[in-house]
Amino acid sequence: MPKPTLVTPIDEDKQLRILWDDDELSEFSFAYLRGWCPCAMCQGHSGERSFVSVDDPQLMDIRPVGNYALNIVWKDCENGIYTFDYLRELGRAAESRSQESQHE
Ligand SMILES: [Zn+2]
Repeated sequence: MPKPTLVTPIDEDKQLRILWDDDELSEFSFAYLRGWCPCAMCQGHSGERSFVSVDDPQLMDIRPVGNYALNIVWKDCENGIYTFDYLRELGRAAESRSQESQHE
């Protein structure tokens, strides 16, 4: 499983950049990443993930969880455990979304 080698929050752009050990680069806006917080508080127990829209999300901290996930701590939610697989998935979805919008 790929692991992040460098996790860089860019506060002025409100973006998080993750470089993986296989050289893939994932970039997310804070709003995107916050919106997909996988915790039960944000997602409920429906079993289906949905996007939670948050105005001006504040990134407080990023903590490693074992060797499989990052706990991304938002001002309004501290519980988001983002597994590496989930982050890769989100990164790819974010990328295809921005490519789509370039074609419009
Ligand atoms: Zn949450």
